[in-house]
Amino acid sequence: MTDFAATRRAFHLPDGITYLDGNSLGPMPRHAADRVAAMMRDEWAGMLITGWNRAGWYDQPRRVGDRIARLIGAGEGQVVMGDTLSIKVFQALSAALALRPGRRVILSDSGNFPSDLYVAQGLARMTGAELRVVAPEDVAAAITPDLAVLMLTEVDYRTGRRHDMAGLTAAAQGAGALTVWDLAHSAGAVDVDLLGAGADFAVGCTYKYLNGGPGAPAFIWVNPRHADAAQPVLQGWMGHAAPFAFDPAYAPAPGIERMRVGTPPVIALAALEAALDVWEGVDMAALRARSVALTQAFIAGVRSACPEVVLASPGDPALRGSQVSLRHPQAYAVMQALIDRGVIGDFRAPDLLRFGFAPLFNGPDDVDRAVATLAAILREGSWDQPRFHQRAAVT
Ligand SMILES: *Cc1c(COP(=O)(O)O)cnc(C)c1O
Repeated sequence: MTDFAATRRAFHLPDGITYLDGNSLGPMPRHAADRVAAMMRDEWAGMLITGWNRAGWYDQPRRVGDRIARLIGAGEGQVVMGDTLSIKVFQALSAALALRPGRRVILSDSGNFPSDLYVAQGLARMTGAELRVVAPEDVAAAITPDLAVLMLTEVDYRTGRRHDMAGLTAAAQGAGALTVWDLAHSAGAVDVDLLGAGADFAVGCTYKYLNGGPGAPAFIWVNPRHADAAQPVLQGWMGHAAPFAFDPAYAPAPGIERMRVGTPPVIALAALEAALDVWEGVDMAALRARSVALTQAFIAGVRSACPEVVLASPGDPALRGSQVSLRHPQAYAVMQALIDRGVIGDFRAPDLLRFGFAPLFNGPDDVDRAVATLAAILREGSWDQPRFHQRAAVT
């Protein structure tokens, strides 16, 4: 039994705030600040350069990767941390492409996050590959025998629509292609089963549902059947077979270690390790069940209390991640009014109100408050005040 009251208490959540934006930046686990302070004092200050061995900084990217592996249906020694997600997309996509010589088509969908598509565009320009982008519903039909790599984000950042990872992986592999799955909105949100799906590569970030803090490092997973064959294009010294031999010629480390690039972000990894403590003992099936219950309750509440908004997420929880998006022509001003009353979600252009439900710290009380606050704002028309229409530079 996962104790979600206890996981909620583990976070610092400002008083009076209902936080439904953990899908963008997870809140701070209470003990993360102490952990980082201790790392600075005892390890950096106290050990200086000996920290690489004595404090285990060198092995930390793998050690932390093992803790994430359990959350995404991967095995020990298959996940490594480092860099940002955009860079890990490049590492995975370029390695997958190189494993399919003679093929040059990358398939993705228009619901993918722009950075993933930008990286693919740059890689296509560099390698002569072709990027094909189709609507999310058309992906299965667009899998053709010339495909090299199917690159998808499992859960759409705007709508929360969830792809069928096992089905699409099987279809792509049936056509002789490899798959790269981006788990940015899946890891810590849904029950991911990479090995069960037989996926080839996966990447994800840790500052969303995993609560590792702003700029927390990304992760990469390579299926063990490819791990010793995959050639990283970003061949950094930390991915070398013998980094401290300082050999001028590159030789890849065995297995997942080759996907490391340079010096790991040790301070950020300390915060992430603290965040992962909260995941100890969390059963992923229970997490998924709670996520479905919360999103279903929110949708039902909005349908009855706010009939004028349109559901932009799939109504079937099997086709949805852990967020719910609603359409409203004045979505930006409505979200500003919600934030003004302590309900924090976010806005995505042109007309989406986005609410992320993070089962570790969101509960039924958050659902009730969000529905009631949204209904009151729409009933009163109180979003229609000039201050809610001033559009600051949106980042
Ligand atoms: C959040 C997100 C990113 C962000 O990439 P960074 O390099 O960490 O800034 C990339 N891809 C997807 C699918 C995302 O959801």
